[in-house]
Amino acid sequence: MNIKSIKLSLIKMPLKQAFTTHLGTVTEREAIIVEVEGKDGVSGFGEGVAFSSPWYTEETIQTSWHVLKDFIIPLIKENGIAHPEGTFALFSSIRRNHMAKAAIETALWDLQAKREGKTLSKLMGGTVDTIPSGVVVGNPNLPAAITQIESYLEKGYYRVKVKISPENDIQYIAEIRKKFPDLLLMADANSAYTLEDAERLKSLDEYGLLMIEQPLDYDDIVDHAKLQSKISTPICLDESIVTFNDARKAVELGSCKVINIKIGRVGGLGEAKRIHDFCADKGIPVWAGGMIEFGISRAHNLALASMPGFTIPGDISGSDRYWEKDIIEPEIKVQGGFITLPNRPGIGFEVNRKRLEEVTIFEDKIIF
Ligand SMILES: [Mg+2]
Repeated sequence: MNIKSIKLSLIKMPLKQAFTTHLGTVTEREAIIVEVEGKDGVSGFGEGVAFSSPWYTEETIQTSWHVLKDFIIPLIKENGIAHPEGTFALFSSIRRNHMAKAAIETALWDLQAKREGKTLSKLMGGTVDTIPSGVVVGNPNLPAAITQIESYLEKGYYRVKVKISPENDIQYIAEIRKKFPDLLLMADANSAYTLEDAERLKSLDEYGLLMIEQPLDYDDIVDHAKLQSKISTPICLDESIVTFNDARKAVELGSCKVINIKIGRVGGLGEAKRIHDFCADKGIPVWAGGMIEFGISRAHNLALASMPGFTIPGDISGSDRYWEKDIIEPEIKVQGGFITLPNRPGIGFEVNRKRLEEVTIFEDKIIF
């Protein structure tokens, strides 16, 4: 792909509001911004979405940086890349580290789309121009959560996801459902339960949840299959689906009825599309999950969610959900519950270099 240089920037920004799951609270966010510059002067952008500590996956900002700098970038330098489609195969000599891989792979897709003069959505086989927006409420305080939901509904958000745990579930969901009887509502447990909680989880069936996300262990598909046979609320898997084969096995076992696809978690847009295609073939709806991300990752998510199998509104909110000022322009905006896809080539948004510089802690540029 005639690469001239790859620049890594470590950025940090505070969240407008703390975000809590039963695993912990996030108050500020770091990310690695990847810029792949071609010899033609065109740049593609990607975003490394690992968190600062390994609470969600084993990858962290530090491990991503190390793997990018010391393994992935040297591999690209040595072998070259003809097309982003070949990236995941090239990276197969490096086990896992999917968020680091996706940070580069998504930048290559952006570069490819810009060179072809196409939107990333069109290049990936997207079929729609607008994406329904969804928002996540990570607030265990019920009155505060209700106020937050009200304000998002006023802004036009279409679907709301709340975080639950055994300390905060049945009454929490019951009150939210009572207040918002028609809301597209779902709950994410981030592995807060075991199979012994099956009866407790069954009692959530009466609240008409769109789905319950990742109730059991982060690496489990066997117990989820047992649980799904006991409850009628569809189970959605998030953390358990790290590879294409995880998705295939989970569907074969009946471990879930829905899959949340996160580009970073599965190692890039190519793998995300492969899982999407498989699920479409099996009649399993998918949606795009969020990582409390900045505008570049959000833009890649928009392109992903424009594929035809994404029939459930994902975690794609506007830039102002978490940030006072995002690193892209224009910022991503929700209007009437929908986000309109940009029509410029690639991710379709410009990186706001001034803002990027303001939030950069350090950077490193590797010349090819
Ligand atoms: Mg989740």
